[in-house]
Amino acid sequence: MKIGFIGLGNMGAPMAKNLVAAGHEVWGHDLHAPMPEGVHGAISAAGAAKDADVVITMLPNGAILRAVAAEVIPAMKTGTVLCDCSTVDVESARAVAEEAAAAGVLAVDAPVSGGVGGAAAGTLTFMAGGSDAAFAIVQPIFEIMGQKAVHCGASGAGQAAKICNNMILGVTMIATCEAFALADKLGLDRQKMFDVVSTSSGYSWTMNAYCPAPGVGPKSPADNDYKPGFAAELMLKDLRLSQQAAEAADADTPMGKLAALLYETFVESEGGKGMDFSAMLPRFEKRHRG
Ligand code: NAD
Repeated sequence: MKIGFIGLGNMGAPMAKNLVAAGHEVWGHDLHAPMPEGVHGAISAAGAAKDADVVITMLPNGAILRAVAAEVIPAMKTGTVLCDCSTVDVESARAVAEEAAAAGVLAVDAPVSGGVGGAAAGTLTFMAGGSDAAFAIVQPIFEIMGQKAVHCGASGAGQAAKICNNMILGVTMIATCEAFALADKLGLDRQKMFDVVSTSSGYSWTMNAYCPAPGVGPKSPADNDYKPGFAAELMLKDLRLSQQAAEAADADTPMGKLAALLYETFVESEGGKGMDFSAMLPRFEKRHRG
């Protein structure tokens, strides 16, 4: 396939590299980042999109996605696919899909989980929204860049799945960290706490697979001075998107709202920027009630 790839940052670059390694012809464009080896450089987003069977975008946010889509869609051929893998708001995903449909272009919103490590290893999970026809065209590409792709429904369903998952993740991480801090103050050994909770009804991915306590459970960013991993500011971005969506859909999400507030305080005024999102544990350790 001929693939256009716009946004070759931390995630996009390794994803594009895997497409090249699988034998695809990739034309890339980025405002700042250099072209990864094997990716042909295009001078504009439209240049990367012209003649492409599929155009992939991996951009910072919905506003940038909308601007890039407005440039790219008119350059694309009828029946080709615009596949956005960024994490953006549901409304932007749907607006881009509508704009694409009006131009005879198919659209898929396909945010990912798995982070930079998953992008490099080709083990991302894709959660996709769009028509069956569009999903069928991009599925073989997902198989190269990832290990699992779930077709979640119509346009926007991929972004909806992503922000719901990450709202659970943020809330659960906070609960796990505050429970460890409470256990410390009760004189409960962290290893014993892990041994019990990881095999009891309080278990979760944050406890069992990504334990925020250093030296406890499988290796995680906690064992590397809380270097990300998944940075606290990216968690904040996703929690804000979940609150934006909850607002638009009139959904009551008190835990998600509080998680967004706590990560906002952590990132903006407590030194959490640049740290892994599990660094909530040392934050709670230092605090007192009230
Ligand atoms: P990044 O900032 O490293 O990369 C974004 C790239 O887009 C940059 O290289 C930037 O120069 C480029 N860009 C911005 N505006 C552009 C434009 N108008 N035209 C062309 N290029 C433009 O970010 P990232 O970590 O690669 O994340 C990309 C997306 O993936 C985000 O939506 C993020 O939320 C999501 N995501 C990231 C991770 C992660 O662990 N980093 C995990 C899952 C999802």
